[in-house]
Amino acid sequence: MPTRPYVIDQMITAKAIAARIEALCREIEAEFSDTKKLVVVGLLRGSFVFIADLVRELDLPVEVDFLEASSYGNEMKTSREVRILKDLRGEIANRDVLVVEDIIDTGHTMTHVTHLLESRHPARLKTIALLDKPSRREVEFRADWTGFEIPDEFVVGYGIDFAQRNRNLPFIGKVRFTDEDSPATHE
Ligand code: 5GP
Ligand code: MG
Ligand code: MG
Repeated sequence: MPTRPYVIDQMITAKAIAARIEALCREIEAEFSDTKKLVVVGLLRGSFVFIADLVRELDLPVEVDFLEASSYGNEMKTSREVRILKDLRGEIANRDVLVVEDIIDTGHTMTHVTHLLESRHPARLKTIALLDKPSRREVEFRADWTGFEIPDEFVVGYGIDFAQRNRNLPFIGKVRFTDEDSPATHE
């Protein structure tokens, strides 16, 4: 299906993201200063750029693993079904784990994923999200670390897609449709 024409307005620069990741990594290092190994779990696909920058900035012994979840809305209920499309390769029992997500929106995905991983009895399980849209929450969830709180806008870039496009942008931008009857289209 063809998408409507749109432009991307820069919202968070690559420089601002890098600076925030440095600060977050110092906090994560303090939290896990005594770890023998930290298993950094990226949620595919949106977190792939974030996790790459995060692990290169982290001065800790890390292992990287991935998990892919998909959430489907159910028109009959406000709940959402979260399915695991690809599970971890490694065991996490008695390990220190950091779950890395791109965006927390309704909260369903991270609630489901953290419950699943907690059931495997990690030594410690912490969570980090690059972006958080607290105004969209349907189930209460708070990440241990958040890069940026953002308003209810559809964002792309830095790993995050719109219909699989724009993941390769180095910054976070918001999608603005140019066929909307708004003053912006008449500039
Ligand atoms: P939720 O917290 O609602 O379960 O799901 C969060 C997921 O919804 C994110 O990981 C992301 O895949 C998707 N999502 C939420 N907001 C946006 C957005 O602004 N842009 C894109 N591309 N995906 C989003
Ligand atoms: Mg995601
Ligand atoms: Mg997506």
